[in-house]
Amino acid sequence: MNAEFVVTQTPLKLFNTLTRNKEPLVTLEPGRVSLYTCGPTVYDFAHIGNFRTYVFEDILRRTLQLFGYRVFQVMNITDVDDKTIKGAIKHGVTLKQYTERFEKAFFADLKELHIQPAESYPAATDYIPQMIEMIQKLIDRGVAYAGRDGSVYFAISKFPKYGCLSHLKLDELQVGASERIVADEYDKDNVSDFVLWKGYDAERDGQIYWESPWGKGRPGWHLECSVMAMSLLGDTLDIHCGGVDNMFPHHENEIAQSEACSGKPFVKVWLHSEHLVVDNKKMSKSLGNFYTLRDLLNRGFSGLQVRYLLMQTHYKTKLNFTFQGLEAAKGSLNRLNDFVKRLHGIQGTSSSGQSEAILQRAFVNFTEALADDLNISAALAAVFDMVREINGLADQNALSEADAKRVLSLVERFNGVLGVIDMTPEEPEVPQEILEALEARTQARASRNWAKADELRDFITNQGYVIEDTASGPVVKKI
Ligand code: AMP
Ligand code: ZN
Repeated sequence: MNAEFVVTQTPLKLFNTLTRNKEPLVTLEPGRVSLYTCGPTVYDFAHIGNFRTYVFEDILRRTLQLFGYRVFQVMNITDVDDKTIKGAIKHGVTLKQYTERFEKAFFADLKELHIQPAESYPAATDYIPQMIEMIQKLIDRGVAYAGRDGSVYFAISKFPKYGCLSHLKLDELQVGASERIVADEYDKDNVSDFVLWKGYDAERDGQIYWESPWGKGRPGWHLECSVMAMSLLGDTLDIHCGGVDNMFPHHENEIAQSEACSGKPFVKVWLHSEHLVVDNKKMSKSLGNFYTLRDLLNRGFSGLQVRYLLMQTHYKTKLNFTFQGLEAAKGSLNRLNDFVKRLHGIQGTSSSGQSEAILQRAFVNFTEALADDLNISAALAAVFDMVREINGLADQNALSEADAKRVLSLVERFNGVLGVIDMTPEEPEVPQEILEALEARTQARASRNWAKADELRDFITNQGYVIEDTASGPVVKKI
């Protein structure tokens, strides 16, 4: 009996934006990781650029599991901001009615991309009381103040560490109070005090507001993440992720609010993934250079082919989207699926005894690659080297059924991280005469020729098949 493939030696190292170093992961609680990942703003369908970030976070989550960690992941749903309010008003529906549709689509897309569900998906609108409480604490500590416009702001000058994540100096960020930014829509140039509570504006907000000690309004985007992260994961979390565009100001602001409130470090390790780009420009709604997952499914690609494309490049490298690239991803994935099919079909007993060494080497290379800040390209190279070498053995009839089963167990382990391979054995093809008999039986039943229908059913059963009625009509399966 061969041993399970389990990582025992290699420590997992991750590049921490905060220290700009690759560091061995040391979690607050041994064997458990608390992980916060900034989620979608549900004002529209997410595009595959967004999903590059979510796929990266899924690869991280699965790698943590490979290394023996239990992961507790929180991904927020931003269901209130300028864009969602604008959409709800434009369509004459409530905020919830407006965001629900996109939230549903988001979860459907996650499933299609085989992204493991997080342990918790808090919605911003469910945490308003906690947000108000945190703002009050920040005011009490003298780092936040109510403006004349009914909004509450965070005074970055009161938080000397401001800029620690993006490595910007405070004096470079200071701009006059008159330039204070009221909008909380993402904008890289927003470098002043930021809004914690956004005062109500009847023309802009219609009937969408919450009551607070500072009057009607709604929470700022940055605050939402701090509150949901700390409510669900505690004052300090192990890992916080997002796309590079979130590093400043969003994550910088999260640190300022959270640490000014708790007096403790907010996050131990920050990870930021690079963008999916088109002709060197970030894929984004505003540039109009985007595809949604639906767009690609409608063109005949599968969610897993898209997943393969998005995950195959190291997360800190920009990935240029092209259809040629997507076709290439499809080709690579086919190779892996064909390999699995071939393994399922191997039945002999002759073995050269060489496969175990190949598998052990592949597992070590795969895990060492991932341990090195999730070096996915090297990890995939380890998988494809193994595929080539095992195929070589199979070509020489030197791989037994037991060997093949062992290879499958390693592929399954790899797929625990990759999440793209179809591991199920192919159903054997149904012979033509059985299919014809099934068709004839369907027709006999339609014309109420029961004797004929029974005769055909007996024929099918005698050949070792069973008829099953499904929503799309009867099908046959091998008994
Ligand atoms: P948003 O809904 O704009 O807040 O974005 C949700 C997540 O997707 C954030 O973590 C962003 O950093 C990320 N994101 C947005 N555009 C891209 C892109 N083109 N490539 C990769 N990640 C992106
Ligand atoms: Zn966030």
